[in-house]
Amino acid sequence: MTAPMTFESLKQHVADGIVDTVLVCLVDMQGRLMGKRFHAANFVEHAYQETHCCNYLLATDIEMATPDGYASTSWESGYGDYVMKPDLESIRPVPWLEGTAMVLCDVLDHHTHKPVPHSPRAVLKRQIDRLAAAGIVAQTATELEFFLFEKSFEQIRKEGFQDLTPISGYNEDYHILQTTKEEHVMRPLRNHLFAAGVPVENSKGEAEAGQEELNIRYAPALDCADHHTIAKHATKEIAWQQGHAATFLPKWHHTRVGSSSHVHQSLWSTDGESLFYDKDADLGMSQTMQHYVAGLIKYAPDYTYFLAPYINSYKRFAKGTFAPTKTVWSVDNRTAGFRLCGADTKAVRIECRIGGSDLNPYLAIAALLAAGLKGLEDKLELPTPTRGDVYESADVTEIPRTLRAATNTLQASDMLRAAMGDEVIDHYTRAATWEQEEYDRVVTDYEIARGFEKA
Ligand code: ADP
Repeated sequence: MTAPMTFESLKQHVADGIVDTVLVCLVDMQGRLMGKRFHAANFVEHAYQETHCCNYLLATDIEMATPDGYASTSWESGYGDYVMKPDLESIRPVPWLEGTAMVLCDVLDHHTHKPVPHSPRAVLKRQIDRLAAAGIVAQTATELEFFLFEKSFEQIRKEGFQDLTPISGYNEDYHILQTTKEEHVMRPLRNHLFAAGVPVENSKGEAEAGQEELNIRYAPALDCADHHTIAKHATKEIAWQQGHAATFLPKWHHTRVGSSSHVHQSLWSTDGESLFYDKDADLGMSQTMQHYVAGLIKYAPDYTYFLAPYINSYKRFAKGTFAPTKTVWSVDNRTAGFRLCGADTKAVRIECRIGGSDLNPYLAIAALLAAGLKGLEDKLELPTPTRGDVYESADVTEIPRTLRAATNTLQASDMLRAAMGDEVIDHYTRAATWEQEEYDRVVTDYEIARGFEKA
């Protein structure tokens, strides 16, 4: 599905007074929309060509702090500008905001006008181009899980993030009754996204009180990442409009289930034939699919950071919670890192279950494609599938269990360095070490309560 608004139709809507505001956005390292709100008249006359932003937007942390240690920008270099180049194919209405449309931008170097390599959209486009050179199109789908809370972000912040109360009182997995009570958030979310060209399939209650899942139809990888980013943004805005908070923090409480973002993947030829399906092969998995999945499994420790980029991401990886800890695959088994879906059908695909709800979809999908492509190039052999409760299986590789461990495997990954470039890996390694440094520096409530009297 392409965005339901062309540049020409936007111009008409502006002339007719239907649209007065255009959100001109880039995607930052955290997967968030950042940018400017343009008067629509200015956008259609001038800014559609390009606009500018401070280049610190791809070198801040989640709190907008400016860590040192990035080669791309710094206080010494004076934090100059990037060019934000609107991708006019991505223009769409924002139906949950009055008179508003949106466009996503590619980020270009201010002087050379070349793509900034560590910009999330550029990181993904590079892998898409590598696949295209081999005549391959990747179709992906990312599931979005999140929690809705009774109170608003503002109330919760004023109360110091204490006494967080989910919007429901019980595990609402597949519940129609409880999710009816959340329809004032979820119905506008589904319908507004659909009207914005994001092909929502469904939403459902998830396996914890207050937890929802939003499913979006699979699409070419760049569209999928765009859809995910817009849907996540819309979830927070629409929840806010209704007086609630929505969080994509993977683990908001250690006694509660975490939130994930599973990534479904399949490869296709340019004329639309599934390269994953072979009707004569075991489970319908073609040789191509077997090599691809073998690459995903082999390199999971290398790219875990891109699926779990914060300290909190690693709190999700716990036994008996549906969050995987082992780099094995299985047939329709939700305890493994990789689950085969649609076996023996044209919809055969692999679902990576490692990622948390805080992943940046561009980086996550790019890393998965890079690993799968390496599997194809090296004709890696697929290990046999694991059966039963994978949490109990011995002698299999574990994914890195801490941000520190995942940072080390990222930094040392020859595969990712070759696929994405040293500057990209060095950039995100710095983002990872900064997260760790900040966490190591700060004294937490947990330590005080545990040790204040007893230490
Ligand atoms: P689950 O059992 O995980 O809930 P679903 O049937 O809901 O599985 O599908 C999950 C996601 O997989 C959906 O977003 C769907 O669009 C996507 N999907 C379906 N077929 C493919 C495919 N061939 N390649 C990639 N994703 C796909």
